[in-house]
Amino acid sequence: MTGGPAFALHGLTKRFGRVTAVDGVSVEVARGEVVALLGPNGAGKSTTVDMLLGLTRPDAGEVVVAGGSPREAVDRGLVGAMMQNGALLPDVTVGEIVGLIVSTHAEPLSASEVIARAGLENLVNRRCGKLSGGERQRVRFAVALAGDPQLLVLDEPTAAMDVEGRRAFWAAIREFAAGGRTVLFATHYLAEAEDYADRVVLMRHGAVVADGPVAEVRAAVSGRVLKAAVPGAA
Ligand code: ADP
Ligand code: MG
Repeated sequence: MTGGPAFALHGLTKRFGRVTAVDGVSVEVARGEVVALLGPNGAGKSTTVDMLLGLTRPDAGEVVVAGGSPREAVDRGLVGAMMQNGALLPDVTVGEIVGLIVSTHAEPLSASEVIARAGLENLVNRRCGKLSGGERQRVRFAVALAGDPQLLVLDEPTAAMDVEGRRAFWAAIREFAAGGRTVLFATHYLAEAEDYADRVVLMRHGAVVADGPVAEVRAAVSGRVLKAAVPGAA
């Protein structure tokens, strides 16, 4: 990628019938940042992520990824994504999926590198239909990594993972980001945002209510607002 931000969202709005899922969201993320998109269920995180990836067309506003459209960035292999409900073919093995995905990219990682980074060494011959929820998430992570992207976009990536799975996952994310690459992850866990993000974008009712380093976000919004936005927040 050349200079400029990793991506920018300019005044994004998306309505579904009467529901305004995303309401004028503007966020610019520099290369190398690890950003948490934090908010409760229904805040508009997934809809924002879908627009960032070019999967949903905004009613208003614009998305720029690596200086171009999101579809261009995805097609160039610059973006790896982990969606909230990505389906996996049940009869295909983990190794076959990884091999298939690697073969679709122009400049992929090797299949063995993808398998190692996603912690799938012991699951290569397992059919996807036999995986646990957390194992499935690891396969989705492998799919996201396969094209050796500059930007990872992750929607509730650890949702079904156990403690050990989470630890390994975040270690892999740290390693990815240490190379100056960019990560945006949507989460409703305040602790994940605090522990793993450089910066937190707090969403509520489709809008950004705070944006900055986690300590600043904590200070900027009253305890009451944070509590309302993120159940379990102190
Ligand atoms: P989050 O990911 O933060 O939980 P979403 O972006 O999934 O939030 O949803 C934001 C709002 O938009 C919610 O009220 C949700 O019900 C609504 N919504 C999301 N997708 C659709 C859709 N395809 N059709 C109708 N309403 C939707
Ligand atoms: Mg969501």
